[in-house]
Order: sequence, then C-alpha cells, then structure tokens
Amino acid sequence: MKILNLHGVGDIRLEERDIPELSTGEVLLKIGACGICSSDEARIFETGTYHFPTVPGHEFAGTIVDAADDVDKSLLGRKASVFPLLPCMECDSCRKHEYETCSNYKYFGSRNDGAYAEYLAVPVWNLNLIDDCVDIKVAALSEPAAVALHAAKKGKISQGSDVAVIGTGAIGLMIACFARNMGGNVTVFGRRQSSLAPAEELGFKIGNSSDLESQDPAFDCVFEAVGTNQAMCQAILAARPGAVIVAVGNPHGDLELQKDVYWKILRRQIILVGTWNSSFKGDLEDDWKDAAKLMAEGDIPFAKLITRTFTLDEYREAFGFLRDKSVSKSRGMFVMDDES
Ligand SMILES: [Zn+2]
Ligand SMILES: [Zn+2]
Repeated sequence: MKILNLHGVGDIRLEERDIPELSTGEVLLKIGACGICSSDEARIFETGTYHFPTVPGHEFAGTIVDAADDVDKSLLGRKASVFPLLPCMECDSCRKHEYETCSNYKYFGSRNDGAYAEYLAVPVWNLNLIDDCVDIKVAALSEPAAVALHAAKKGKISQGSDVAVIGTGAIGLMIACFARNMGGNVTVFGRRQSSLAPAEELGFKIGNSSDLESQDPAFDCVFEAVGTNQAMCQAILAARPGAVIVAVGNPHGDLELQKDVYWKILRRQIILVGTWNSSFKGDLEDDWKDAAKLMAEGDIPFAKLITRTFTLDEYREAFGFLRDKSVSKSRGMFVMDDES
C-alpha cells in the first residue's frame, strides 16, 4: 500500500509498505479520505513529531474491510471515522471516561503512524460508525467536527443568542455552523476580507475583527478561535454582561491583557471557559456520535468546508496549496478511495 512517511522536518516521502497485520481487538480500515490539518502542516514543516519516521494523518474515515478473529464480523463493510487518541485506560481521566484529558496517550498521526496511507489497523474501541448515506469525505471531517461541537456546546447558546466567532479556519467555521444549528444568530469575524469569503459563502454575516475593539459589546457568546492576544482582547470587548467566552484557539505566544480589558471580565461577570479536543466515550453518547448524527441528517453544509482534494501521489501539490497563505481555504484533504 502507499503511505506518506515523514522522515524529518520538511522530508516527507511517498513509499510502499505492507498492509498492516491485525492484532486482537482490531479492524482493518481501508482509508477513504484523510483531512490535512494545520497541525499536520506544523508537524511536517516546523516542529517535527515525537519520532521519525512517522506517517501523519489523524482526521480520517474509511470502510472496515477485515476484522481480527475476536471482533464482531457484522462490522465488515461499515463506514467509520476514528477517534485518533489511544488512551492509557489507567489514569484518573480515563477512569472517568474523560479520555481527551488522558495523561499518557498515544495518537494516530503523531505518536503512532496515521492515515496518510491506504490502510490502517484500528482498535474497535476507537471506531465511530457513520451512516452509509454520508459521503466518505464528509465522514473524514469527523475529528474537526467533534472538536468544534465540543467547543460549541460550551457556549450555552439558545434560540436567538447573538454569537460571534473570531477566526475563519475550519474549526471556526464548523463552530459557526453548529452555533447556527443551535439557534444562534452568528457573525464570523476575521482580519482580512479574503479570509472571510468561505464564511460568507456559508451564509454567515461577516465582520472585521478589529471593529470589535471600538463597538459596544453585542454578543452573548464569543468563540476565540485564533489563539492570539489580539483576538482574546477582541473577544472580551465584544462580550455582553454575563456572556460566555469559549477559548478555542491554541496560543501562538504569551497572552497579556491590559488592565482595562481584564477589568471587563470582572465588571461584566464574563464566563471564560476553555475547550480541548472532543469527548469520545466508546459506547456512551459523545461529541463524535452527535457529529455523526448531524452528518446523516444533512442540515450542516459539511461538504462546503472541503476546499480541495488530492491523491497521495499529489502530495507535493497538496502541501504547496496548504502552505500558500494567499488562498483562502478551510480543509484540504487526501482522497484514497472515493468509491466508499
Ligand atoms: Zn486536526
Ligand atoms: Zn489515561
């Protein structure tokens, strides 16, 4: 099978490898599609990963084509996406089924080989079954969708809530879609008109984020989905008394607040909450199953969030596209098997 193997920072190669053997409790997933996350871009071109070589790719879905002897054979032929975190099952968080905060996890696509490949062996526990009617490329958005839904649920949005999303990346846009679905009156804020084009195409009101610094606070819920000092200040200034601010963006550097901005948190009794990853609980209700349900219902325009697709052979083009900051995009994706 074909894989994209990362041998060092900036050194990713298309290689051949045997299809993986299955261990107890695993299925073989024929990968249909795998999203190219901005964290992959950093992993491949800037920071590297925990060890080399590693096959990146953590946002994927495919068809179950084989199962270990101890695994239920009715899974064969089913579509599934995969929770990429492999928890230790022993720490305090794992015992509480809060696997996203596991202190000793492994991870497809960073600590373990991921899905820039044609096949991957996956534990049954990590499978998130997807309805057959869902396009495999949409199914491959499960991971960012679950992350975005995890964040959106923390916003306490009700019918008619005024919601601001600061940030125009795939997670920001998905949060905007979920917030609208929850009844929110959503405006997406970005720094440049060009970066706001995808939000406008999705039918959202748009605004320049710097305007938030001079306007009266007008939002019941603000998602900070950038991770900069400036965006956090804008989020605080945009929040009405009693509003919820959800901190989503990973910080690019130290955050520092001026006294009069910090004061707004106190005087307006703003509720500031953090969000991390997504909840996945195996058999129990979780963000992944909720996202899968929304995918099957078809009300959220997931497919519009996929900007461009590539085959594994087109990887140079794919990363060139990804790193070209002049093109506005939400998600690029490798498609290995579009038939599924
Ligand atoms: Zn990702
Ligand atoms: Zn754990």
